[in-house]
Amino acid sequence: MAKLSAPKGTKDILPAESYQWQYVEGLLKEIATDFNFKELRTPTFESTEVFARGVGDTTDVVTKEMYTFLDKGGRSVTLRPEGTAGIARSFVEHGLYAGVLPLKLYYLISCFRYEKPQAGRLREFHQFGIEMLGTTSPLADAEAILFGNEIFKRLNIGNITLNLNNIGCKDCRKAYNEKLKAYLEEKKESLCETCQERLGKNPMRIFDCKSEICQDLLKDAPTIFDSVCDDCKNHFQQVTDVLDAVGVAYKIDKGIVRGLDYYSKTVFEFVSDNIGAQGTVLGGGRYDGLIADLGGNDAPGIGFAMGLERLLLLAGESLPTEDSRPKVFFIPIGDDAKKAVLKLVYELRSKGISAEFDLNSRSVKAQMKYADKIGAEYTVVVGDDEINQNQYPLKNMQTGETKPVSPDALIQELL
Ligand code: ATP
Ligand code: MG
Repeated sequence: MAKLSAPKGTKDILPAESYQWQYVEGLLKEIATDFNFKELRTPTFESTEVFARGVGDTTDVVTKEMYTFLDKGGRSVTLRPEGTAGIARSFVEHGLYAGVLPLKLYYLISCFRYEKPQAGRLREFHQFGIEMLGTTSPLADAEAILFGNEIFKRLNIGNITLNLNNIGCKDCRKAYNEKLKAYLEEKKESLCETCQERLGKNPMRIFDCKSEICQDLLKDAPTIFDSVCDDCKNHFQQVTDVLDAVGVAYKIDKGIVRGLDYYSKTVFEFVSDNIGAQGTVLGGGRYDGLIADLGGNDAPGIGFAMGLERLLLLAGESLPTEDSRPKVFFIPIGDDAKKAVLKLVYELRSKGISAEFDLNSRSVKAQMKYADKIGAEYTVVVGDDEINQNQYPLKNMQTGETKPVSPDALIQELL
């Protein structure tokens, strides 16, 4: 029989690694609580239309990367390639715009994109993201950026750059796209095929092209940063004023447009050159038109999404190196001891103390070895004598010190 393996571009997270994931996830939830964000969980798949309308149909994600299929009822559904469109759909569907605003939400999800797998680029990957819905304030833009900054701070990740751009609103972008189109028109033949198409539909998206030739052609092109209206310019100024006041360093990168169509005004990325070619760990921005595009009352929003695989690659050394271990391991000898030990083990466990014993009929010697291997802090060998005298020898595996205690005292000691 052929050996089965996980699908290309997916990964099992084995126990030896999953505790590091749990550590990072716990930290992210802690930060979310400190910033007063609440979790919103949406389905893993949505009607394809949610992403076609919510992500934008000239984006790479929608045109090339989606896992789309017909279900048995003939409906076109798509495994979510990102988190924002689903959140926006939910926000509209449940009329959350009528509640208390802004709504500060976070999500921790797996996402699916049909991509060429490589380090930091998978077909199933994980994202943590936040959304603030129902605020136009530049303070919210700054808060999203500072939330991102806090993640790297708490994980002691130093080698990371915050890049910002201002991509204006629908109005300034319309004028700008004409300007860019005029500039690129005579160079059209040299653009890649995709970008030739983009030139007609959405010229600014050419900045997102990964081809060096296209990037070269853009070198002296007019930038959206320098073409925004006064209102957008002023908004951006207020965002950077907050970052300056809080003391967070940033660079202006006039080439960032972000991969998804819904962004406006502030866009930002946290980038590292420590994790190879896939250097963007976190990306986000303002998306004032998205909710309206999905058929809701116009509610402005701002958010970011961060790839957890890339974050873990980057955090590397600063992650805990050791999983939690059992506090105590029992080695019963004889049937009476077995019964007494089992009773005690389950009592300890329900008091929140990690207690363990052998399930595989090992010899006493092999059980000792096993207890050592799994890193038990204490061991207790219980035979008939120990039961009769009601004194169990609690052995500290680090110091080798053993002290006899009653079962009740043992519970107190381990608590
Ligand atoms: P890239 O330019 O690297 O393709 P993107 O612009 O498509 O990224 P977003 O859609 O903004 O990325 O997603 C936010 C984050 O999610 C990225 O910065 C990255 O950390 C992570 N991410 C995106 N696609 C993948 C993937 N295929 N595998 C692993 N992580 C990913
Ligand atoms: Mg991508």
